[in-house]
Amino acid sequence: MDIFQTQLNAIQHKLAFVASEPIEWKFYVQVFSWTVTLFESYLLLRQYPLYSKTEPPKALAPHFEPGVFEKSQKYGKDKAKFSLFSGLYKQLLDSTMLQYGFYAWSWSSAGRLLAKLGYGPEYEILQSIFFVFILYFLSSVPTLPLSVYSTFVLEEKHGFNKTTPRLFVADLLKGWAVAIVLGSPFLAAFLYIFKWAGVQFVPWLMAFMISFQLIMVVIYPTVIQPLFNKLSPLPESDLRSRIESLATKLKFPLKHLYEIDGSKRSSHSNAYFFGLPWSKHIVIFDTLVQQSKPEEVEAVLAHELGHWFFLHPTKMMAISQIHIFTILALFPAFLRAPPLLRSFDFPKAVAANPPTIVAFLLFQMILTPLEAVVSIAMNAVSRHFEWQADQFACELQDRLKSSEMKDMGDRLGKALITLHVKNLSTVWVDWLYSAYHHSHPTLSERLKALEAFQAARERKKE
Ligand SMILES: [Zn+2]
Repeated sequence: MDIFQTQLNAIQHKLAFVASEPIEWKFYVQVFSWTVTLFESYLLLRQYPLYSKTEPPKALAPHFEPGVFEKSQKYGKDKAKFSLFSGLYKQLLDSTMLQYGFYAWSWSSAGRLLAKLGYGPEYEILQSIFFVFILYFLSSVPTLPLSVYSTFVLEEKHGFNKTTPRLFVADLLKGWAVAIVLGSPFLAAFLYIFKWAGVQFVPWLMAFMISFQLIMVVIYPTVIQPLFNKLSPLPESDLRSRIESLATKLKFPLKHLYEIDGSKRSSHSNAYFFGLPWSKHIVIFDTLVQQSKPEEVEAVLAHELGHWFFLHPTKMMAISQIHIFTILALFPAFLRAPPLLRSFDFPKAVAANPPTIVAFLLFQMILTPLEAVVSIAMNAVSRHFEWQADQFACELQDRLKSSEMKDMGDRLGKALITLHVKNLSTVWVDWLYSAYHHSHPTLSERLKALEAFQAARERKKE
């Protein structure tokens, strides 16, 4: 533990200048964030012309009914235009708020609100909670029209929207309620650990964050998700017995098999699993059940169980712990840095003794370039995991010595095509756009890989 602490101290020592030197942090954050936004806009402009292609890739052409490819191109075009506009709009908004001292204003407003309730500035944790909610509400209101447009104009126009205005408002209010009920105790505990653990906060906060994530694994599906969706047991059927038998053969600890009413909001479809290592639940969208044949849905589940088999969620969680650790290890240098707060327009009195939450938030903004790189790397890892899961499904027949599964690769391919076609997903994708944004390989890439996995299997046999 001591060596560990010595390392952390060495990092702090290197970054000691942050606490003393006046640096134009606000200016740098403006430059970073505009750079990211402009780069994302550039990617959209690279992708945009591909929506004008009149033919799908050759391998996919037979799967499109007449008119469907054109529909998917139009949908893609509309979505790209919307992304370009909303990206620039959000950036303009953030940038303006940053420029005119919105963060400092929110902190003092939280203080005034607290004073009205009879609490002084010594209640830093309480003020921090108020501060975060003021920030959260005021910055989410101007983007509301974007979600309204996306749901009721864009998705509606292309036939996906099933959300009623009433459901939209209910979702919004429930979302806010969950944020307050869960967010406040989380934030309070987070800030309390900082105060309590002092310079040794890194291991304690890590332990806290991991416990919180595990608690969420239990709470989310049992308490939070039912607020928004109905999960009902998948009825007895060919599909149900196929999935149960697959789970048994793989020794997947299947506890519950659910169907979720995703069709309540949208006709996009999907399937996933979650839970603790000894008790897992599978959730299938009702839309997927309706759109694909049971043997194809089974192949989608074979892919999902591939993620489980290779411990992909656990590995992702481990990577995110390293990420959190890096952030926390760098943070102490920014924790007591009056010049940091001064550069974001905080008054001298506040900057002299920086509130933890303020320092943490500003520090996060400074990390924007690092976060962009991390997200590209995470997407690359995730795409690699997708290949592995596809390969797992293809090779299931060998692993389980079951000849019934010999066409799993074909079935998965068919299911992917159906998902893609029904969701009107984009088929022509710019490589740089995909490398930056996509957590999954493109459909053409996946189909090609499925064929290659099959061929490699057969070669191995000979
Ligand atoms: Zn997957």
